[in-house]
This record gives sequence, structure tokens and C-alpha cells, in this order.
Amino acid sequence: MTTNEQAPLDAAQLVSGLRATLRQGRTRPAKWRLEQIHGIQKLVEENEDEICAALHSDEHKPRHEAFISEVHAVISSCKLTTKNLHKWMAPEKRSVNLAVWPASASVVPEPLGVALVISPWNFPFLLALDPVIGAIAAGCTVCIKTSEVAPATSALIARLIPKYLDTDAIQVVEGGVPEVTALLEQRWDKIFYTGNAKVGRIIMGAAAKHLTPVTLELGGKCPLFIDDTVDFQVASRRLLVGKFGSNNGQACIAPDYILVEEHLAPKLIKQLKSTIVEFYGEDPSQSKDLSRIVSKNHFQRLSGLLDDPSTADKIVHGGERDEKTLYIAPTLVENPPLDSPIMSEEIFGPLLPIITVKDFDAAIDLINDKPKPLAVYLFSTNKNYVKRFTEETSSGALVTNDCILQFVVPDLPFGGVGESGTGAYHGKASFDSFSHRKSVLLKNMGGDVSARYPPFTPVKQGLI
Ligand code: NAD
Repeated sequence: MTTNEQAPLDAAQLVSGLRATLRQGRTRPAKWRLEQIHGIQKLVEENEDEICAALHSDEHKPRHEAFISEVHAVISSCKLTTKNLHKWMAPEKRSVNLAVWPASASVVPEPLGVALVISPWNFPFLLALDPVIGAIAAGCTVCIKTSEVAPATSALIARLIPKYLDTDAIQVVEGGVPEVTALLEQRWDKIFYTGNAKVGRIIMGAAAKHLTPVTLELGGKCPLFIDDTVDFQVASRRLLVGKFGSNNGQACIAPDYILVEEHLAPKLIKQLKSTIVEFYGEDPSQSKDLSRIVSKNHFQRLSGLLDDPSTADKIVHGGERDEKTLYIAPTLVENPPLDSPIMSEEIFGPLLPIITVKDFDAAIDLINDKPKPLAVYLFSTNKNYVKRFTEETSSGALVTNDCILQFVVPDLPFGGVGESGTGAYHGKASFDSFSHRKSVLLKNMGGDVSARYPPFTPVKQGLI
């Protein structure tokens, strides 16, 4: 039984109900779409305290962080969509050439259809609802599968959605692997998945059966290179708030490891240590501004990375842990071997390796030796480095002299490439992600030219 004591899932019935609503055309008019998006905004505004409490219960998320990164982010997305929906829905005129004249051509966005949104635990409110705003904006019906790893938030979403939204068109399913498996057996018109790449492969495999288009928002190891053209104090603040201030490192775009030239490492590490103390005090376990690790499994996974013989003696700051409260201190690790577990898999927690490299070229090589990340970060004012980073590395996003802010620029599509994902969303990209752009050519019965039709006599071919 799921957290909200839902009836057992009948996935086939759920999809056929959503499909029936779609066929009625109820989700097509802009009016319905705007009402539902307004419903989401109202849901968030009227339940802000409960949402923050659920996020605190699931991962000890500090209220300020929960408000900014989940509550406020969903409201902003609703407002942006409301403001632009008519513009996004409008057909785009295209020119026609003489061969088809007289005619008019346009690209008309149409809803892909019945959509499935599968969400993860790390931003369990935002990452469940933000894609749904895109699906509704596009005119789809949608099923949201919340994450079982964030049970309080999942239960809250399941309870609130029916109070504010049209449940014939928007359904919530709680649960874990069995529920996803049952849902994936159905035919969907779009699957939007956020989570790890291993499950991403399962999703893509299931989608292939019906040639269902997918967006896969995955993760990976986001590298950060820093040189001495920047102020280390400002840089440390920005990169550490991107790491520890973002769900304590449990964020897909948190910097995963730092690359720095060897001679700069002592100065950088000294500054990073001092900034950690500035942010979280001498004993970060007492700070109110630090999330906890989401579950015992993830606590043990992260402990395993630190305790690995390759890494255990490389900790230069932090390392303290308490399994009972799922606390792991902000931790710096200097030069773990490149083939160690901490440098081989996505860390997704408050551990930050600092890897020394010979020079900028070596940093680029190291980045390119790994799968394409969701983001690369460059702290440098060297214009040539910026150009080379842009041209010589491939990633979902590139940011200079800051971290994670790409997430809050709605005009920038958010998504990965290769191992870090496929497709993108945010702003108009969310609308596009759930739309098919249909080419429409409208001809009338005039302008018939006999040269188009056989028999192709020499006269018609222009030979005589
Ligand atoms: P998770 O464990 O909550 O799983 C994500 C979803 O997949 C859940 O709904 C879960 O029920 C389902 N799932 C899990 N195992 C499954 C299986 N075997 N078969 C079918 N469905 C299954 O979250 P997670 O994967 O631990 O999330 C963390 C990962 O997500 C990290 O890799 C992170 O980088 C990535 N992430 C990416 C983004 C992004 O926007 N690109 C955002 C957040 C997280």
C-alpha cells in the first residue's frame, strides 16, 4: 500500500482515463490550461508551511532553502507560464516557395498526449510539479509518479493535487519500483524522467517499445576548474553555496569535484576551510542551514566513498558523521586517486574532492575522459580559457564564476547531454518538451499547373 493508502494501482485504467479526457479535448483550450496552472500556484501559496514541513521531514531541508529552491521556484514557473502561454501556443508563420504557391505554411504546437512524469527525491516538490506545469501548458493529460524516498512530500502532493486540479486530467501515483514498472507497461505519448542514469536506461528501454519520446533529466559528475585570476574568497563562497547550500550536495548540478593547478591548491584549500566555518560554524552539525542525507542507504553509500582505502587518508576537512541523524559534515578530500570510487561515480552528497592538475590543458583532458556532465563550472577571468572551455568541453550547461545559477534562468533550457540526459525543460523549453510541432501547409484549389502531372511531354519538360 502506498503512503496515502491509495487503492492498488490499475495502470491500464489510469491511462485509459487520462486518454479519454484528452480525446474529449478538455485540455486543449488555453482557458483550461491557465486554470490548472493557477490551481498549482494556489496549491503552493496556500500550503507553503506544509510543503516546507514535509521537505524538512524528508531531508531536514532548511526552511529558507526549501522556500527558495522548491516553493518559490514552482510559483515562478507558474507565473512565467501564465504570462507567456498564449504566445507559446500561437502558430508560427513560415514562408512558402513558388513551387507550392498559393498556400500558407505554419508550425502548430499540439499536445503530445498522455504524459508520465517520474520524479526523484532530492527536490521532491519542485521536480514533481515543474515538469507538470510544462505538460499542462502544452495541453497534455499527465500522471505524476512521486518519489518514495521522500514520503512526506509524496503524500502531501497526492493529497493536495485532487483539491486544486482537474483529476480527470492530472493524476498522482505514489510508490516505488513496482508502480513505475506497472506504469511503464502502458503506452504513453511522452515520458519525462528525472533521476539516475541506471533507471534512465530502464525508462528508455520501456519507451522504445512504443517509440514514446522521452526527456531524461539525469546527473553525473559536474567538474569545476578554478585559477588564480579570481578572488578565492568570493569564489569559495559561490562554489560552496552551490555544493553544501544546495541540499547538502544532493543536487544534480552541485559541483562534484574541483580541478586546480598544484601550486594553487594549498591557498584554495585554506580558503575553502575558512568559508565552510564562516557558513556553518566550527561544528556544522549545529547549523540550521545544512540538510541531512536523505536515507540510510545514501548515508552508507557516501560513508563507503569516504572509508574506501584509496580515500580515507585524503580527508583534509570534515569527515564527521552520525548515522542516527543522517548527518555528514561538509568534507574536503585532497587528491583521491582518479580511479577511486569517489572520483568514479556521482557523489551526490557533501564530499568535495580537490584534484590537482598540471595546467588548464590537463583539466580539459580530465573532464573529457569522463562522461559528459550536466554542468561544467569555470572560475576564471581569462577570456581564452572561457572560449576554450566552451569549445573543448561538452556538457548540459556551462557557467563561469558561479554555480547552479543556470537553474534559475528560465530562458535557458535545462538538460543534459549523453550520459547526463537527453531533452531539456524550463520556460518555453518545458512547453516544447510536451508538444509536437506540427507542420501545417494550407493550400486552396487555385493555381493548378499542368506541368506537375504526367504525361511529361517534351513541351512540359521545356525541351521544345
Ligand atoms: P529516486 O531514487 O527518487 O528515483 C527516481 C525515480 O525513479 C523515482 O520516482 C523512483 O521511484 C524511480 N525508480 C527508482 N528505481 C527504479 C527502478 N529500478 N525501476 C523503475 N523506476 C525506478 O532518485 P535518484 O535516481 O536517486 O535521484 C538522484 C539522481 O537524479 C542523481 O543522479 C541526480 O543527478 C539525478 N537528478 C537529475 C536532475 C536533473 O534535473 N537533471 C535533478 C535531480 C536529480
